[in-house]
Order: sequence, then structure tokens, then C-alpha cells
Amino acid sequence: MASTFQIQDAACTKCTFFELRAAAGPDLGLCRYNPPVTQPSADAHGFWPVVAAQDWCGHYNPQAAAQAGLRAAG
Ligand code: SF4
Repeated sequence: MASTFQIQDAACTKCTFFELRAAAGPDLGLCRYNPPVTQPSADAHGFWPVVAAQDWCGHYNPQAAAQAGLRAAG
């Protein structure tokens, strides 16, 4: 079945891997696609990339598609 995905519809805020964090700033959140990065020292925590709600990248995964996949797998 052909995909109806259009790149102009992509936005971090609609992605499975986006976690809204109001403390980061208005319309900002964390991208959870990859593990944390830039660990400043061995005993410090790494950082999750901060992205804007309307950003997007090539790993964009619409939440609806992920939910459909979970239903299919379950
Ligand atoms: S940066 Fe990419 S993977 Fe991360 S939340 Fe945005 S679209 Fe999703």
C-alpha cells in the first residue's frame, strides 16, 4: 500500500521519539531517538538533544504509524 506521508507534515511534536519538556523552553522537547550524547565527565549524565516542536529529521516516525505497528505486533 502506498504511503501518504508528505515531508511537510513532519514535525518533532508529532514524532514517537519527541518528549515535550516545558522546562527546556516554549515548544521545546527532547529527542529520544538516540542515546544521550556529550557526557561531560564519567560521573555526569549525558544530554538528550533539544529540538523544537516544528523541527524534524530523517528519523521522523509519526505517532500514528508507531501505534499501528504496536497493534499489528500485539
Ligand atoms: S529529531 Fe527526528 S527522531 Fe527526534 S523527535 Fe524530531 S523528527 Fe523525531
